[in-house]
Amino acid sequence: MKLSKRSNSIKPSPTLAIDARAKALKAQGVDIVNFGVGEPDFDTPENIKEAAKRAIESGFTKYTPVGGTDELKEAIIEKFKKDNALSYAKDEVVVSCGAKHSLYNIAQALFEAGDEVLIPAPYWVSYPDQVLLNDAVPVIIKTEEENSFKITPELLKANISGKTKALILNSPSNPTGCAYDRASLEAIAGTAVKNDFYIISDEIYEKLIYDGFSHISIASLGDEIKQRTITVNGLSKSHAMTGWRIGFAAGPKNIISAMTNIQSQSTSNPASISQKAALEALKGSQDFVPKMVSEFDKRRLYMIERLNNMKGVSCLRPVGAFYAFPNVSSCYGRRFNDKMISSSFDLSSYLLEEANIAVVPGGAFGDDKYIRLSYATSMENIQKGLDRIEAALSALK
Ligand SMILES: *Cc1c(COP(=O)(O)O)cnc(C)c1O
Repeated sequence: MKLSKRSNSIKPSPTLAIDARAKALKAQGVDIVNFGVGEPDFDTPENIKEAAKRAIESGFTKYTPVGGTDELKEAIIEKFKKDNALSYAKDEVVVSCGAKHSLYNIAQALFEAGDEVLIPAPYWVSYPDQVLLNDAVPVIIKTEEENSFKITPELLKANISGKTKALILNSPSNPTGCAYDRASLEAIAGTAVKNDFYIISDEIYEKLIYDGFSHISIASLGDEIKQRTITVNGLSKSHAMTGWRIGFAAGPKNIISAMTNIQSQSTSNPASISQKAALEALKGSQDFVPKMVSEFDKRRLYMIERLNNMKGVSCLRPVGAFYAFPNVSSCYGRRFNDKMISSSFDLSSYLLEEANIAVVPGGAFGDDKYIRLSYATSMENIQKGLDRIEAALSALK
């Protein structure tokens, strides 16, 4: 018996695959420095854990409404008002099992065969596969490092067709750490309104920003763009809650209602206990967030400086998220013993096997000139890991 065409059209998330290989080597006793991770290395704050314990002890352990409890939706509505100058009603918000799940449900609600979905590259690994899983066509648009990997209206226009259904935006970006300023967002919003396509705005790294950058939600730029935007966010990155699986989306009522129906026939509600934890994350003390961000900031500055001092490496200074995305393409064509390094995959596998460093090849994000290093790991690890990378790169002939 054959598997469906759909399931054959996709591959497992390459970031999770590298992480698994690094963990396997570690389990064998190899001293791996893991720059592959995509989650904060901080523990979930105590007040959030306490809220979850209270939920268990008070018996809040049953089904909730499919799209999340009213109190959690209200807290999310408050968050959008306060942080993003966006006002939504309860039927314009849905809580899912992680932001990835929200994104998937959007894809299910909007896409079908014949649709084209614009995805700027470098992109987060799940976007193209979620589009493919829903029978639509990902249209990958390569952006330029010189323009901080931002998509321009010109690039957009060159890729719009009668079949264009949506653009997936991610600011701040995983993997590049770049983010869109107001003027760039206004230009994109204008193009989306004029050509009548949706914007799916993944803002999961909104709170992790540096150098005084201020995050802007594209949906807040006017009524016309708000009607065409679904904003996705969650607590995984901002509150170190990756394992709790809470994400959410806000947008036009008909789309949110379709997403809720899809959820009602697949996962049902996100875990009741996690919803209580999420409520505390949104409404309780926010002291944790700036502390984590300032720690990330120190590591960011150190990592970027070290990378830029390595021969053959150049790295933009990211303003968000917790990744460095250095250009390593000048190492391609060089050799270790008789093995030629000719792609980001070769280089990543060389770094893992010979220097015991896990990084993610840029090719997985749609641009082979780069590798992604996460600085969501201790300063000590970062120092050790960068020493090893420097030595490994200078060993190439
Ligand atoms: C981590 C991440 C998500 C998903 O987060 P969840 O854990 O599913 O809430 C979504 N988008 C990007 C770009 C991410 O890096």
